[in-house]
Amino acid sequence: MSNYISVAIDGPSGAGKSTIARAIAEKLGYIYVDTGAIYRTVGLAAQHAGIGSKDAAAVVALLPELCIDIAYDSEGVQRMLLNGRDVSAEIRTPTSSIYASDVSAIPEVRAFLMDMQRNLAISHDVIMDGRDIGTVVLPNADVKIFMTATAEVRAQRRFLELRQKGMETPYEEILRDIQYRDSQDSTRAAAPLKPAEDAVHLDTSELGFDACVDAVAKLIAERTGR
Ligand code: C5P
Repeated sequence: MSNYISVAIDGPSGAGKSTIARAIAEKLGYIYVDTGAIYRTVGLAAQHAGIGSKDAAAVVALLPELCIDIAYDSEGVQRMLLNGRDVSAEIRTPTSSIYASDVSAIPEVRAFLMDMQRNLAISHDVIMDGRDIGTVVLPNADVKIFMTATAEVRAQRRFLELRQKGMETPYEEILRDIQYRDSQDSTRAAAPLKPAEDAVHLDTSELGFDACVDAVAKLIAERTGR
């Protein structure tokens, strides 16, 4: 048994997992692990290699050549390194979202990334977000949360986030992208997106940021006594 606390937050894209997990990590001194970024990095490697995102055999053949590392900068922000190069910004484009969703449906890709995710929880208090953290990666997590919001609310949030970064993407395109990923992530055979039986459900559609952070922090305190 690990002496470290682990908090798993799963749910569809745009439900607010990363923003809330990051705030909790800062508040409680945990490390925040964004596992979507790790899948995005594999997707980017396939993209760079000119491999189609659905070409599972070619993606699997690429895996032994990949060196993927997670690093934390001086402000505790997670950075993704692909073969030693920081690709944290490049993995955020709409094309890399689709690549991430497609390559993450390949069981060999999921197996390849498993130890990296588990090792972080062995050596730190972590709050980890993804799709299968409470069900597969950390089934013994101290706290499991399944965070959701309607597709329209999630698309609107993503639209504003991209706009803030100077990227103008039509709302309709973002909504379509979210619906594509929701459907693929929840219907795939390998580790589909679904709540763990013991997960607490949190719908953030009508909850403000502070209320979400308070709800999660309260739950962690109740479960862990900290
Ligand atoms: O969380 P984010 O939207 O950045 O993740 C990108 C994609 O990676 C998701 O659409 C999902 O298909 C995949 N993913 C996954 N398992 C995780 C985290 C992300 O399959 N634990």
